[in-house]
Amino acid sequence: MAAMNSSPPNTSPALHTLQSIFGYEQFRGDQAEIIDQLVNGGDALVLMPTGGGKSLCYQIPAIVRDGVGIVVSPLIALMQDQVMALRQYGVKAAYLNSSLTGAEMNEIENQLRNGELDLLYIAPERLFNGRTMDLFGQIKIALFAIDEAHCVSQWGHDFRPEYIQLSALHERFPEIPRIAVTATADAPTRNEIIQRLALQDAGLFNSGFDRPNIRYRISENSGNARELLLRFIRNEHEGDVGIVYCLSRKRVEDVATWLSSKGLTALPYHAGLSQKIRQTNQERFLREDNIIIVATIAFGMGIDKPDVRFVAHLNLPKSIEAYYQETGRAGRDGQPANAWMAYGLQDVITLKQMQEKSDADEQHKRVERHKLDSMLGLSELTTCRRQALLQYFGDTLDQPCGNCDNCLNPPETWDATVAAQKALSCVHRTGQRFGVNYLIDVLRGSEQERIKQFGHDQISTYGIGKEHSTTEWRGLFRQLISRSLLNVDIEGHGSLRLTEAARPILQGKEKLMLRKQSKASKGDRKRNTTQFNKHADTNLWNALRDCRKKLADEQGVPAYVVFHDATLADMVERQPQTLEQLGRISGIGVRKLENYGEAFLDVLVEHSQPAPVSDTVDETVQLLSQGMAPLAIAHQRDLTLTTVYNHLAKAIGQGEIELDDAIELDEKEIKAIHFALEQSEDGKLKPVYDALEGDYDYGVLQCVRASLLQHP
Ligand code: ADP
Ligand code: ZN
Repeated sequence: MAAMNSSPPNTSPALHTLQSIFGYEQFRGDQAEIIDQLVNGGDALVLMPTGGGKSLCYQIPAIVRDGVGIVVSPLIALMQDQVMALRQYGVKAAYLNSSLTGAEMNEIENQLRNGELDLLYIAPERLFNGRTMDLFGQIKIALFAIDEAHCVSQWGHDFRPEYIQLSALHERFPEIPRIAVTATADAPTRNEIIQRLALQDAGLFNSGFDRPNIRYRISENSGNARELLLRFIRNEHEGDVGIVYCLSRKRVEDVATWLSSKGLTALPYHAGLSQKIRQTNQERFLREDNIIIVATIAFGMGIDKPDVRFVAHLNLPKSIEAYYQETGRAGRDGQPANAWMAYGLQDVITLKQMQEKSDADEQHKRVERHKLDSMLGLSELTTCRRQALLQYFGDTLDQPCGNCDNCLNPPETWDATVAAQKALSCVHRTGQRFGVNYLIDVLRGSEQERIKQFGHDQISTYGIGKEHSTTEWRGLFRQLISRSLLNVDIEGHGSLRLTEAARPILQGKEKLMLRKQSKASKGDRKRNTTQFNKHADTNLWNALRDCRKKLADEQGVPAYVVFHDATLADMVERQPQTLEQLGRISGIGVRKLENYGEAFLDVLVEHSQPAPVSDTVDETVQLLSQGMAPLAIAHQRDLTLTTVYNHLAKAIGQGEIELDDAIELDEKEIKAIHFALEQSEDGKLKPVYDALEGDYDYGVLQCVRASLLQHP
C-alpha cells in the first residue's frame, strides 16, 4: 500500500497495518488470533459484542492478503458507512448494491478486474446473479467475510432468506478463507450459523456478550421521569448524542417538544410520522454530533452510529432481549456510555395488561410472561445488573461489574413484610376488584365518598397504612406486581388480584425484603462520560469537536468518520504539540495525519497548556517529598537556591504540590506577599521584592505567585 511507510523489524504485516493505516497501537481481545487464522488461509466464526472491533478482523486480512476481500453485508446504509470510513483511512474500498447506477457499477467492476480494490462490500442478493459469480471467477479474492452472520438464522429476528444461499460461496470457491461475524452469540444461533454456512472446520472465537463500556442504571419514575431525564442529560451529556425511547407516539412527541423547549436539539421518530420526516430526522441524527432522537422502538434497525453516548428509556421494555438490543446502540465505539431508564408502576400495569390481552396461544403467552417477569426482575434487582443480564443470556461474570448503578451505589433494602401484608390483605378485603389508587386511598384512610359507599371505611385494613406516603405505597405495589404476588386483571380496568405466591406472605411464613425507594433525584455522583477535570480541557475538547465538524461538513460525511470520540479524547489527554506526536494518537493513521493533522494541530497548539513539568523539576519535587529542604536540594543537585525555588514554583503552578510543601511561611508573611503582589503591575516581581525590602528570595516570591495563579 502506498500509505505504508517502512516497517519496523519484527512487526507482522497485520500489526503494521493496524498501526500505520488505522493508527492503533495493539490488537484487542481475540483480534490478533482471528486475523492470523485468516491470513494463514483458515476460516473463522467470530462472536464478538458490538463495539468489540469485528470490522478489523476481516479488513486487515483483506488488506494483507493478495486480492480483494469480499464483505457480504445486509444493510445498504451500513455498507456506505464502512466504505466511507475506510476511504478516510486511505483503504481502497467500494460497494455494489442497488443504489448504484449502471455506469458506477461498470466502474467498480473494472477496478476489480484491475486488482485495484482491497475491499468490496456487497449485498447478499447481488452475489448469486450470474454476472457477479462470473466476475468473481476472474479476479483474485483475498477472503469472504459474512457480516451480521446471524441473519442466516431462521429463528432470529433478522432472518434474511438470501443468507441461506451463502454456503454456495464455499462450494464454488473452496480455497478462499471465510470469516463470519456477529454480535448475537447464543448457542442456538451459533449452531445454526455453523450448519448453514458450513463452518464446521472454522476456528470459533467467542468473546461473549458483555458491553463493559455501558453503564446500566435503572431508577423509579414517580411521575417525574421527564425531569429526571433532563437532569441526567444536563448533568452528564451536555452536547452528546443520545436516543430516548418511549412507548407511545404521543409520548415521543411530548418529550421531543419538551426537550427542545429546554434548548436541546431533540427530534421525534415514530411510525406515525410521514416517511419524509422520518428520513430527515434519521439522517440528521446520523450526521450530527449534538443531537437527541426521541423514538418508539420503530427506531433502531440499521442505526450504526458509533458515538451514541446514552440510551434512555422512559418506559420499561417488554423483555431483556429488547432492553439489551436497545441499550446496545450506545457506545458502539467502545467509549463510556450510559444506559439509563426510569420506570414506574404504570409501566408495570400497562405491560402486564397488554400481555394478558394479547391473542397469542397459551404457550406463547407463557413465554412472553416469562420474558416480562425477567425484565421486571432485572429492574427491581438489588445486586449487579450486568451479572444478571449476562446470566440471562447464558454468559457468566464472576465478579460484580463495578459499572452499574447497583455496584456503584448499593441500594438499601427494607423488611417490607408487614407493609406487604397490609397491601395484600387490603386487596383481599375489598374483593379483588379495585385498582392501585383506590387501594392506597383505603390503606391511608381517605375520606372519599366512594370508599364509604362501598363500606370500605368499615374494613380492618382501612387507614392502617398512614405511615407510608402515596408514593411509597405505589412503589410497594409496583414491586408486588413485579414479583407476581399480585396480578393485573385481564379486562383492563387495572384491578388487582392475589396470586398463589401471595399466600405465604399473608400467612407470615415468608419475609419480603424490598429495594428502598432510591433518591433518584440525587443523580449519579460518579459520572460515566469522557470527562475532563480542568476547564481548559473542556474548551479544548469543544474546539477539537468544532474542528472535526467543520472537516466532516466540508466532505458531507458524519463527524465520527473523520475521528472517533476516542481519538479526540486521546488528544485531550496527551495534548500533542507536533505532527509527529499527533501521529501517535490512537486512531490516527498515515492518511488521516496527512489530511487532518495540520488542522487539529493548530487547535492543539492554540489551546496548549504550560509545558509539562520536566524531569529536572520532577527530581527536585521528589527530593522535597523525601523531606529535604530547598537549600539542601540546591546543595545536593549543585543548583542555585533560586533555581530550586523555580522548580518548586513550576510544580505549584501545575498543581503537583501545594505552597505549604515548598516553603515555610506563616500566614502573616504570606498575606504581606499577597498584598505586595496585588500592588504590582502584571505580576512583575522586582517591585514586590523591593516593597518587601529584599526579605524574600525571588524564588520564594515565585512560589507564592504560582500558588495564587493556581487558586485565585
Ligand atoms: P463492531 O463491529 O464489533 O461493533 P467496530 O469494528 O466498529 O466494532 O469497532 C468498534 C470501535 O473500536 C471502532 O471505533 C474501532 O475503530 C475501534 N477499534 C477496533 N479495534 C481496535 C484496536 N485494536 N485498538 C483501538 N481501537 C480499536
Ligand atoms: Zn454491576
